[in-house]
Parts: sequence; C-alpha cells; structure tokens
Amino acid sequence: MDFDDFREDAEQWLTDNCPASLLGRREPVSGGGRKVPITDPDSQRYFDAMLERGWTVPHWPTEYGGAGLAADEHYALRQAMSNVGAPMPLAGMGTTMIGPTLLEHGTPEQKARHLPKIASGEIRWCQGYSEPGAGSDLASLTTRAIDEGDHYLINGSKIWTSGAQYADWIFCLVRTDFDAPKHEGISFVLFSMDQPGVSVKPIRLISGASPFCQCFFDDARALKEDLVGKQNRGWTIAKRLLQHERSSISGAMPATRSVPEVAGEYVGMADGRIADAAFRRQVIDHELDALAFTLTQQRAREENTDGRTQTYATSIFKLCRSELTVRRTELIVAMMGTRGVGWTGEPFKSDELEETRFWLARKAGTIAGGSSEVQRNVIAKRVLGLPD
Ligand SMILES: Cc1cc2nc3c(=O)[nH]c(=O)nc-3n(C[C@H](O)[C@H](O)[C@H](O)COP(=O)(O)OP(=O)(O)OC[C@H]3O[C@@H](n4cnc5c(N)ncnc54)[C@H](O)[C@@H]3O)c2cc1C
Repeated sequence: MDFDDFREDAEQWLTDNCPASLLGRREPVSGGGRKVPITDPDSQRYFDAMLERGWTVPHWPTEYGGAGLAADEHYALRQAMSNVGAPMPLAGMGTTMIGPTLLEHGTPEQKARHLPKIASGEIRWCQGYSEPGAGSDLASLTTRAIDEGDHYLINGSKIWTSGAQYADWIFCLVRTDFDAPKHEGISFVLFSMDQPGVSVKPIRLISGASPFCQCFFDDARALKEDLVGKQNRGWTIAKRLLQHERSSISGAMPATRSVPEVAGEYVGMADGRIADAAFRRQVIDHELDALAFTLTQQRAREENTDGRTQTYATSIFKLCRSELTVRRTELIVAMMGTRGVGWTGEPFKSDELEETRFWLARKAGTIAGGSSEVQRNVIAKRVLGLPD
C-alpha cells in the first residue's frame, strides 16, 4: 500500500477508535507498568484497540507484540495520529530505549521474555546510568557488580533515575572490572526493582513534583541471563541505547501550529508582542529554523531506508531539536505576556498554566540523554572527525 493510502486508512481507523475525550491530548495514554494502571475507561478502550493492532510498538516484529510496520508506514501512522489528534497509546523507556536495544543486542530468550511485556504495557522500565559522580563522564560510574555464578550482586547508587518509583525493572550500567580502563570494565544488566536490595528515594523539585529518584542498591540481584552483551563490554550497548534515546527525543512529531498560532489563542494576535518588529524577527527566525529542521529530518528518514536508528547523527538531531524546543516555548511564553507567568490557580486558565510549565520543563531536554555540550563533543569527534 502506498504512503498516502496507508495514512488515510490509519486516519479512518483512528477516527473510529479514538474516543472523543482523548482527542488533542498531549500526554500519552499510558507509561505502562503494574504500579500505574490505566483508570479511565476511554483510555483503556483506546489502549486495548491500539494494542490489538500492534500499534503500541508499530515497527516491532509481530512476534513481540508489534505490527511489523516498515519505516515509511510507521511514519505515516504517526502523521495520521497527529492529524486526527489521537495520542500515543504507550510511551516510556521500554518502547523507546531498552526495547530497541534488546531487538538489536538481546539474546532470543531475552527478547521473548522482555519485549512482549513492554509492548503490552505490563512492565515499565527505568534507566540506571547517572551516578552522583558520573553524569557527562558516564564511564566513571562506580556501582559495583560482583559475579556470583548464576547472578550478580549489585551495590551502589544511581541518581536522576526518571520514574524509578513507578518502574518495575531497570536497565543498569555496573562496573564488573575495577582494574580495566574505565570504558572496558562496564556491564549492562537488567533486574527487577521489586526486590529487597533495591530502595528508591524520590527527589522533590522546587515545583513540588518528583520526576527523578535516587536509587540505592544493597546486594540487589541481577540474573546472569539478564546480562545484555558480554561481561565488561557493556559500554557499546550503553552507547547504542543512548542513540535510541536521542533519536526518540528528536523524533517526536513536529509541532503542527506556529508560535503565533499557539500564543494567539491566549492573548489574541493584536495584543501580543508580535507588534514588536524585533520580536517578530525572532519568531520568524525560529519558524524558519524549525521548518529547516523538519525537512532535514525528513531527508534523513528517506535516506535511512532500513528504518534502523541512526548512529552519531542522533546527536545532531537531539541537539537541534531540544534547543529549538527551548526557543519555541520561550517565544510562546514571551508572547503570552502576563498570561505566561502564572504558576497555579486563578486568574490563569489551566491551559495557560500548562504552557508555562511546559516551557520550564523543556529546558531539561537540553540535559537529559546527554547535555547539549556533550552532543557537540560527540558531533565534533564522531561526525566531523576533529581531534580531542
Ligand atoms: C529530564 C532529565 C531526565 C533524566 N533522566 C535520567 C534517567 O532516567 N537516568 C539517568 O541515568 N540519568 C538521567 N538524567 C541525568 C542526565 O543524564 C545527566 O543530568 C546528564 O548526563 C548530565 O550529567 P550531570 O547532571 O551529572 O552534569 P555534569 O556532567 O556535572 O555537567 C555539568 C555541566 O558541565 C557540562 N560538561 C560536562 N562535561 C563536559 C565536557 N566534557 N565538555 C563540555 N561541557 C561539559 C555539561 O554540559 C553541563 O552543562 C536525566 C536528566 C534530566 C535533565
């Protein structure tokens, strides 16, 4: 079926199956996991329908719960969802990070055991990479795993672990050799968060929310069968997972409405800062850069016919996308004027408050998955071939 036919069919199906109450929703319907079940009947109905079609992970093979869509079909489906206003049924580190990594590097047994539970939303995952002394310099991590025959005993701590309080399982970088050069003594293991050796402490932010946690491992156990790749060779897997992460950060559907369209809803075009020529120039520059970014992504997607996540180019897209999003949200809030400075309650409308919080939260996108400076270093070294 050609691209347009596929998209039109998908749009029709989504129109028939996405409940009106979910149309236009920005957040995904579910992040998966046993600890955060779907409670709203419309969301459950939509989720079940998408799951049955393999559309929670549309591009995964059918044997693992996907629909086996080719890259262009997957993109057409995402366009259809955006056109209809149908939300993502399932999101999270299972579908975007550990799932694609296991598809490439997992054993057949690991794929069979873990992937269907990600696709069905049964298991939610978190990412145990950063430590108090290892962020950008991730390979300095010191969480230790001792080989105990059929399992590892893990001791140490991880920080900034997004959603760890809701996660069922963790993919975790551990040091299995302290004498080897730092990149060569790291292993990549999977283990359950629901065991006596794991404790999770949510970190409370100034907003009152706790999107991150610190995780403590005190003789936590990871089975040997949940070692991904070879012992002491986890760095290669870790880097590939980061490419999947960066691809997912940059691969969100482009915004369908311009900055003035969004801000104009709150303040009316005539009242807004758009009357200021210097500000108008910033808006135009942003809109042109956003369009150029979308077209460059489209070209890269068309060149990338096997649909596999790109390698170092993911750093370019992640850097540009996260910086563009910061600019976009700053312009929207600036145009909103005083409507954009509310934090809670009257006289602000809930969508105005949401816009303000979205603006603040997006700044973190230039740090998560490796900061903008780290992406520039990767691009300099790996894409441009510049010396260290
Ligand atoms: C929203 C969000 C979600 C996150 N979720 C997770 C998660 O789920 N799991 C997880 O493990 N981690 C997570 N992180 C942590 C994230 O990976 C780290 O914050 C990030 O890698 C930076 O590390 P750091 O905070 O230790 O800062 P540092 O490494 O201490 O960096 C501080 C500053 O120095 C700059 N810098 C550092 N080294 C260099 C260099 N060589 N060249 C130039 N500049 C440099 C950085 O760019 C930054 O500006 C998350 C972070 C955010 C913001």
